[in-house]
Amino acid sequence: MTSGSSTWTSTSLSYPQTSMAVWAPSMAATYGDRPAIVDGERVYSYRELDEQSAQFACALASTGVEPGDVVLLHLGNCAEFHVAYYGALRVGAVVSPVNPLQPESELRRRIEETGAVAVVTGRQQFEILLRAQIDTTVGLIAVVSDEPVRGGNPATMRFSDVIAGQRSSFRPATVSPDDVAHIAYTGGTTGISKGVRVLHRNVVGNITQMCGWRAGHRLVTGRDGLVSLEPIDGKDVDGVVPGVGSTIVVAPLFHAHALINTSFLLMCGLTQVLSGRFDPARVLEEIEQHRVSYITGTPAMWHALVTHPDASSRDLSSVRVVSSGAAPIDPGTLDNLRRAFTAARVVEGYGLTEATCLVTAAPLGVDSECPVGSAGLPVFDTQIQIRALDDPATILEEGERGELWVRGPQVTDGYLGTPEMTARQFVDGWLATGDIAYRDADGFVYIVGRSKDMLIYKGYNVYPRLLEEVAASHPSVSTVAVVGRDVGPAGEEPVAFVVPAGDATTDSDELMAYVAERVLPYERIQEVMWVDALPTSAEGKILRNDLRERLRVKPVLSE
Ligand code: AMP
Repeated sequence: MTSGSSTWTSTSLSYPQTSMAVWAPSMAATYGDRPAIVDGERVYSYRELDEQSAQFACALASTGVEPGDVVLLHLGNCAEFHVAYYGALRVGAVVSPVNPLQPESELRRRIEETGAVAVVTGRQQFEILLRAQIDTTVGLIAVVSDEPVRGGNPATMRFSDVIAGQRSSFRPATVSPDDVAHIAYTGGTTGISKGVRVLHRNVVGNITQMCGWRAGHRLVTGRDGLVSLEPIDGKDVDGVVPGVGSTIVVAPLFHAHALINTSFLLMCGLTQVLSGRFDPARVLEEIEQHRVSYITGTPAMWHALVTHPDASSRDLSSVRVVSSGAAPIDPGTLDNLRRAFTAARVVEGYGLTEATCLVTAAPLGVDSECPVGSAGLPVFDTQIQIRALDDPATILEEGERGELWVRGPQVTDGYLGTPEMTARQFVDGWLATGDIAYRDADGFVYIVGRSKDMLIYKGYNVYPRLLEEVAASHPSVSTVAVVGRDVGPAGEEPVAFVVPAGDATTDSDELMAYVAERVLPYERIQEVMWVDALPTSAEGKILRNDLRERLRVKPVLSE
């Protein structure tokens, strides 16, 4: 790492040579009866999470599930998600989480592609699953349901019945760090989603990096083979305090970020409050009620939280860290967050599924600062290069924009079943992220946008993210997304979809003039389309393809 600005510069961590199979018993050995999961009225202690995951592991083993077999988690956020996740890992199975709202065709594709042998599903999506799995490899379906479910072929049982009567101890399977832990799907917002092969050493590695970066602790393996935390000498971090506080989970657990963050925060002993379907008023209430200390989320979520009328009346003073990721956040929302969470350090992190979860993050050392707009420094043992977009052999200097390449313990094994795509993006241990970024003299990384989103207009590169930031700074703008409209040989011109702020009085011409004063001539927004809301995915990313499609099907009319 090359940053010269902080005490984090040359630190390298050691990484436990272990697997996620030991996660649940390791956490139980450290935290025992401390609450691990709060799901509505239900509270699971670390010990109960461990015991139930052991029961699920026994049940899987007794139906013939072996190390390397794939278990699909086709579930929304609930306590059983965690039980099934750690249980499947414990038996050495590979976990593949699926958005429970996937249509039947995509669900079937996932089952066929992964060769899943068991699925844990919810009552509401059970019927779709039943249709999607006909004549596939699925041999067991466990349904999280209060009502009875009918058995048959494949064996179909309630989740509670699957684990009932099973032993509550199960020696974790011997799993190599080089075995696959997850098949994590990504890219659904920009095209066909791809399965990423995430190895145990990637998950353990990224969690180790998070523990160091955000809690100032390292992970060590004991004689019993279990892992625990140990303070890193001299790393005084103003962030997560192991064994203290709680976090609220709003993002879907089927997405890599929430899942890896969860395993990191549980390993740090933070109680997980599962908030269910996102409702800003309820989240604010739960933060106050559970004295939440660490909260992670996406810009869309922050925007809804800080603009909610209850934000000013709720006591949010327990929150010490607010961590934003998954998409760019505009400076206005960052400011509002700092005003709402007065006792918290508001920080940004950047990562992607192909690098497990986290790549760069604002340092949380007690005296460290992160420049506004930056996604922080590469976390421990992570190398970053900015390479020319048209020539990846050319490594660019500080301040120059190019594609962000990353190398480190979190860089995964590539895509499932698509060797050509893997070969294109994973080269000599380096991952081409597809994100455009630059670095400053201190090594701080700034994400400018996706290379796929970059527009070429009249021969110039136009970065929608920059235009979005400028437009979002106008008081009449609530949120904004800029996409390209095909204008033939001139390329793609920038068009802004804008959600007006509540008391907006501006018209399109005024907003376009406002942006034009602050950008280069070829970057000017050519059209403003006012909309009630921007389409976003469950992971909080703007569905830009939907917006591009709107421009294609509907000739744009000026207001
Ligand atoms: P996923 O693999 O679904 O998590 O998506 C990863 C992508 O989200 C990255 O390649 C970036 O394009 C985007 N992303 C994640 N974090 C940030 C961030 N802090 N700022 C801007 N974009 C981000």
